[in-house]
Amino acid sequence: MATTPIAQSLNRGGAFLITTSAPEDIFTPADLTDDQRLIAQTAEEFVTKEVLPVVPDLELHKEGLMAGLLKKAGELGLLGGAIPEEYGGSGLDKVSATILAEKLAGYASFAVSHGGHAGIGTIPIVYFGTEEQKKKYLPKMATGEKLSCYCLSEPQAGSDALAARTRAVLSPDGKNWILNGQKMWITNGGFADIYIVFAKVDGEKFSCFIVERGTPGFSAGAEEKKMGIKGSSTVPIFFENSPVPKENLLHEIGRGHIVAFNTLNVGRFSLGAYCLGGAKNVLVAASKYAKERSAFGKPIADFGLIKAKLGEMAIRIYAVESMIYRSAGMVTAAVSEPKSGTDKTQQAMQVLEEYAIESSISKVVGSETVDYCVDEAVQIFGGYGFHEDYPVARAYRDSRINRIFEGTNEINRMLIIQMLMKRAMAGVLPLIPAAMKLAEEVLSGPSFEETPSGALAEEERVLSQAKKIFLLAAGTAVQKYREQLADRQEIVGALANIVMDVYAMESSLRRAQKASALRGDGASVMVDAARVYIYDAMDRIEKEARVALAATADGDTLTTQLAVLRRFSKHNALDTISIRRRVADAVLAQDRYPFEGR
Ligand SMILES: Cc1cc2nc3c(=O)[nH]c(=O)nc-3n(C[C@H](O)[C@H](O)[C@H](O)COP(=O)(O)OP(=O)(O)OC[C@H]3O[C@@H](n4cnc5c(N)ncnc54)[C@H](O)[C@@H]3O)c2cc1C
Repeated sequence: MATTPIAQSLNRGGAFLITTSAPEDIFTPADLTDDQRLIAQTAEEFVTKEVLPVVPDLELHKEGLMAGLLKKAGELGLLGGAIPEEYGGSGLDKVSATILAEKLAGYASFAVSHGGHAGIGTIPIVYFGTEEQKKKYLPKMATGEKLSCYCLSEPQAGSDALAARTRAVLSPDGKNWILNGQKMWITNGGFADIYIVFAKVDGEKFSCFIVERGTPGFSAGAEEKKMGIKGSSTVPIFFENSPVPKENLLHEIGRGHIVAFNTLNVGRFSLGAYCLGGAKNVLVAASKYAKERSAFGKPIADFGLIKAKLGEMAIRIYAVESMIYRSAGMVTAAVSEPKSGTDKTQQAMQVLEEYAIESSISKVVGSETVDYCVDEAVQIFGGYGFHEDYPVARAYRDSRINRIFEGTNEINRMLIIQMLMKRAMAGVLPLIPAAMKLAEEVLSGPSFEETPSGALAEEERVLSQAKKIFLLAAGTAVQKYREQLADRQEIVGALANIVMDVYAMESSLRRAQKASALRGDGASVMVDAARVYIYDAMDRIEKEARVALAATADGDTLTTQLAVLRRFSKHNALDTISIRRRVADAVLAQDRYPFEGR
């Protein structure tokens, strides 16, 4: 099976698994416009000048400080990115929103508070509000005059959000919804003015409401004692016979899940971008420290095992960055396509739904990369990494939450495969014909299809084989378990890992090719990063596929499948140690992530 060139009809979510793309099709950070770079600079300066100097007070929850900073950010236009211009926002395209989120990550608690308001606290009204609701709330949310939050989780209902117990019933005079119940873990809940609250009408129909602070019977509990992101507000919220005006129902009764899941879809994408920014910052700290700290008569940066860490951090950040900006570019392009009969906001929501697989990938890989980086940074700092006076201890604690909120990484891994299967069954994504074609190819023995040639030819071939491995493992699992595949979570997890690595491999490779075409040898370290990622990813993919196949097939069938897997996963040996060192040297030369803006 040769992957087919990308056709417009296949330029859709998840299609990267069965198509091939050209470097010029891929958006990369080198394509950022001057305006987008200016947004990045404004956000970064805001964090440096306004947020970082007051971190000690923020960590102690100094009254009004975080809310005040958000309002200041609003005055600078940093809160209204998701809000269309006609409601006072800046209606940022996805690439601009991504760079904004990334550059606000200098202090994780601020990034989380920003996302709680400008992301998941705002999106529900932008996408689902009536004209009156939009006019009433959005302009004030754009400036920060009113701050918001998103109230979905409950003490007994987190991942299983639809098991919520908070109830809404219409008052006898029909004027108000009466809310009773408790929400849990609400970011910005301690100071917000507007609460996007999910509750079941008559105990059954999951619905969404806009609730204002000051509503009778509404109260916010004490700040939770958290492991990290201590500067952010996280509180429980209580409703006791709280009357919410009838017109504050958001979207339709019984359709609250549509509001909830579409909002989280947007939030997940941004979360990946915040994580990317956090990972870059910790790399800077680790690089500087590795040069300052000496042991055995030389800077620890000179030791191979420290270089391996710095190199690997940069390589993983490069892969995440390549994926996230590629996805942001696809979303931006699709939203800007003229589409008659659909308003721009609805079109944006549909496009984001289309790329929900890529959003989940952004969340999972972003959060696991920043976790990897903070862990290695603590190790580079040694004992000082374990001390609160040094920057990486807080980064280590702050990072951990990202794998838990906005849908845990377990839930997102399952979503990736569920969404792919749903699209395959609906015929939106021709995965089934692709798997059948591969089966024919396997039966007919080794193929003599055209092999790539030129620079990065082996990497190109490895990528194409990785896509076949996904089809082999996924096709076998679907054939065996069919609708019951969802219950085989370990297999689903392995398949999701393959999907994420394939997307990362392709995004890394295309970006390196695009940079090489433009800058020749000037892109050689980026090419190094892409190559190491691809070779290591192929080893991971082979293992995941073996695990999935062994849990699916047995006897002669398994023996045959494993032989095919070995054939597909064969690749040349690469001296990844030397190459990783070169990447580390590029980090150390500048004390920063070496591919910024490239
Ligand atoms: C600091 C912080 C801020 C937060 N901010 C907000 C906010 O602003 N708004 C909001 O609504 N919520 C917020 N949350 C809540 C967060 O979204 C939930 O904690 C999260 O969704 C997980 O839910 P849970 O804690 O109930 O864990 P559970 O759902 O009980 O999960 C526990 C474990 O079981 C796993 N698990 C659960 N179901 C499955 C399954 N079907 N298959 C396999 N594994 C499964 C999970 O992946 C996890 O590892 C926040 C949480 C924290 C800690």
